[in-house]
Amino acid sequence: MSRQHSQAAFARAKRLIPGGVNSPARAFGGVGGEPIFMARGDGAYLYDVDGNRYIDYIGSWGPMIVGHAHEEVLAAVHEAAARGTSFGAPTEAESELAELIIDAVPSVEKVRLVSSGTEATMSAIRLARGYTGRDVIVKFAGNYHGHVDSLLVAAGSSAATLGVPNSPGVTEGTTRDTLVLEYNDVAALTAAFDQHGQRIAGVILEPIVGNMGCVVASPEFLNALRTQTTKHGALLIFDEVMTGFRVAYGGAQSLFNIAPDITTLGKIVGGGLPVGAYGGRAEIMDHILPAGKVFQAGTLSGNPLATAAGIATLQLLKDGHAYTRLEQLGARLEQGLRSAATSAGVAHTVTRVGSMLTFFFHPGPVTNWTTASRSDTAKYAKYFWNLIDRGIYMPCSQYEALFISTAHTNEDIDATINSAQETFAAL
Ligand SMILES: *Cc1c(COP(=O)(O)O)cnc(C)c1O
Repeated sequence: MSRQHSQAAFARAKRLIPGGVNSPARAFGGVGGEPIFMARGDGAYLYDVDGNRYIDYIGSWGPMIVGHAHEEVLAAVHEAAARGTSFGAPTEAESELAELIIDAVPSVEKVRLVSSGTEATMSAIRLARGYTGRDVIVKFAGNYHGHVDSLLVAAGSSAATLGVPNSPGVTEGTTRDTLVLEYNDVAALTAAFDQHGQRIAGVILEPIVGNMGCVVASPEFLNALRTQTTKHGALLIFDEVMTGFRVAYGGAQSLFNIAPDITTLGKIVGGGLPVGAYGGRAEIMDHILPAGKVFQAGTLSGNPLATAAGIATLQLLKDGHAYTRLEQLGARLEQGLRSAATSAGVAHTVTRVGSMLTFFFHPGPVTNWTTASRSDTAKYAKYFWNLIDRGIYMPCSQYEALFISTAHTNEDIDATINSAQETFAAL
């Protein structure tokens, strides 16, 4: 498989863009080698600049749940573009997307649209602090909430892969009010609230983690989160930027039947265009300017193109059929990978919720960052490149979940399993 054009494109990009990429997750830091430059996407496939085709399991790191270049999403974007791309004035489409989100996500009564997941989490913690009048935010090791300064400690995936748990430029002052705990650790959570309960504004977490690989919160942990935050007057923030409209139409909270106070969204909500959103009970959300005093603004917030793509995507998902199909495809891939690895004698754990899955090169169980980080990343790198050579594009890090779209077919899944089988045998 020739990747000559990719190599040339990367050489050029490196001269112009730091590290040659506009987001480190694309740099292949976790698997070595050079990133592959893409020319186009179509359904479940990506085509690189050398004309190679890949079955795509990244889906732009989550948003492309209906596949690339979906006809209805493109039509919506085209129609919106023809009417003008940004006005800096309200549009009715913003209410339409807000209504879809509010109808889907049980705990959200009002929602604010922003332009990225990072902006959503940054705004959510500001709101939690403004609402409670407290400073401390609790987060969990290996959870990623975007590149928000105060949350860029023990931040999973990109940061973990590059071995930079803390970024230079993030001052001690900004992270002083961030308390980092181990995921799924009820005792540590209870102890933290016993000690600092009066100072804690909120707890933010990925209710199903994608950013240290797929790791699921235990029912006990979720219960403790809701009980402790309520007891101590802190807000519970579910970062559903990845899980929202992915694991279920109503997100992880609808699967777990637990109501957070604030929910952050992104990725799928923008249908592949830049979007984020945060919402919650009206009484909390009305603290945001101009209804309240907590400042948050954005020139392109609620942008007509992004809003159109988001609405079109949610319309395709709304009847729930997509999730039945995604579960079936996910289960097929999970079973296939498990049995291929088992028969090749490869130590592994597969974690999965619906169309979100991680194959850990670790015998398991993987329940937090400490256990996830013991995975054999060298084996993962070999697995990744062997699959690339077979036209399968997996996440370029052990610590990222893969995503299946409704455009994937049983044939795509079976081809992937066959390739994985060959790969495991060669490891
Ligand atoms: C992707 C992601 C973010 C950041 O979203 P961006 O749009 O990349 O800023 C935040 N939280 C979670 C859980 C994510 O997966």
